[in-house]
Amino acid sequence: MNLMVSDLDYGQEPSLEPNLDPYALAKALSGRHLIGGKLVQAASGKTFEVIYPATGEIIGFGAAGDAEDVNRAVEDAAAAQKAWGKMRARDRGKLLYKCAEALEEHVEELGRLIALETGKALRTESRVEASILADAFHFHAGLGSELKGETVPHHPDMLTITVREPIGVVGAIIPWNVPLLLMALKIAPAMLAGNAVVVKSAEEAPLTVLRVCQIMNSILPPGIFNMLSGFGPECGAPLVEHKKVGKVTFTGSVETGKIVYRTAADKLIPVTLELGGKSPMIVFEDANLDNAVSGAQMANFYSSGQICSNGTRVFVHEDVADAFVEKLIARSKDLVLGDPEKPETQVGPIVTKAQYEQIMSYIEIGKKEGANCVLGGHAVTEGMPEGGLFVAPTVFTDCRDDMTIVREEIFGPVMSVLTFRDEEDVIKRANDTQYGLAAGVFTKDLSRGHRVVAKLEAGTCWINTYNITPIEMPFGGVKKSGVGRENGRAAIEHYTRIKSVYVETGDVEAPY
Ligand code: ADP
Ligand code: MG
Repeated sequence: MNLMVSDLDYGQEPSLEPNLDPYALAKALSGRHLIGGKLVQAASGKTFEVIYPATGEIIGFGAAGDAEDVNRAVEDAAAAQKAWGKMRARDRGKLLYKCAEALEEHVEELGRLIALETGKALRTESRVEASILADAFHFHAGLGSELKGETVPHHPDMLTITVREPIGVVGAIIPWNVPLLLMALKIAPAMLAGNAVVVKSAEEAPLTVLRVCQIMNSILPPGIFNMLSGFGPECGAPLVEHKKVGKVTFTGSVETGKIVYRTAADKLIPVTLELGGKSPMIVFEDANLDNAVSGAQMANFYSSGQICSNGTRVFVHEDVADAFVEKLIARSKDLVLGDPEKPETQVGPIVTKAQYEQIMSYIEIGKKEGANCVLGGHAVTEGMPEGGLFVAPTVFTDCRDDMTIVREEIFGPVMSVLTFRDEEDVIKRANDTQYGLAAGVFTKDLSRGHRVVAKLEAGTCWINTYNITPIEMPFGGVKKSGVGRENGRAAIEHYTRIKSVYVETGDVEAPY
């Protein structure tokens, strides 16, 4: 059933008690930003629809933010940051720890709500994302005393040190595909380092992240964590442009990443960009094929393939290609698509109609260009909820390196299988892409594994697994896949600037 704007009750604040009815929660959160610790409507009063991709129903509304909302949020953040930045880092960490504990109590609620916004299957995807959200805050909460500078032995009569200072207000722009986690890994280190943050959520999924913000604002001082919803040009762009935003961290498409980078260049502020990918996965003849098939499934079908680090170019050694494809089909043909809320569902729908149409058009291009579709290759309607955007897990074999489906990021459940004979040759082909986010190698020979990884142009490489991205390991891309790294201990440093301090302990000798 479609929700209507007239159904919204702005007089009622959503309770902080875990709410396991995601439809009621989506309604209760609708039409608001969170600015300066308060849930508020957009200055313009405008809203936009939030749609459940499994049925096409309107389940909520985002507040349509614009430059005026951005200005309010950034000004509030800048004012609040002054005291926050002066707190002991470990005391900020204690508050983040409390946030993590509160979020753990909301795992089931957040999982159900994110399933509704994104269509990601509750058991295999949405609940998993909600359950690792708190981990990002737990990890960073303990890093307060790691915000270290250096002492540098410049001269015996001089104490020469560096100190790390917060930047001020950090703008974070996130996509819809893994919004909870991608937000957490930006804001946790930023806040720990003493910054206030203004997040711009993705227009497809504004509500679950708003809920996280509401929960955390019951613990944090007002103004430290602000949440705006809205569209890119109207709300994202003014956030990057705002003169009091001192750093921007962005995850999204290459095209938008370039826009963000250009604006940041005009302001001369630092940015972190995590962008697209078309990552290779190489299966050598000695690989454990069952593990390689599991890796290929995780690298292509998880979240209906809507993951930036996916390994969509699967290079398989000629000697094992037939056996690999046979196993892959046998294990993928019965993947259960359907209603994200049902426990038996393994794969949910595509997030938006536009994205769905783009995936279907890539599948047609693959067929036209002569790739052999050995699995899927079509939409699925039978047995699915009416109005849902379901695409069958799809495998193309007989692919060539110059095919469109092998070169372009599809962001859907579409795998291209290519064959190879020679190690040097496959490395060259794997690197022949504008992207460099990730890569996978399957082999029992770990010397070969390391040798190959050393030559792969990618920010993250997996040997005998795929798509594992824990918060304690740095993540980011090379080439057009991005700028900078997120995650890992060093992430806190990316939200600071270094001040060099010289203390003279002897006499000053002027040359006059
Ligand atoms: P996709 O739509 O493929 O997920 P985008 O890069 O378009 O990837 O979107 C990622 C995030 O960037 C979203 O929150 C979106 O609203 C935002 N965005 C889009 N255009 C701009 C822009 N011009 N400036 C700032 N943010 C933008
Ligand atoms: Mg977009």
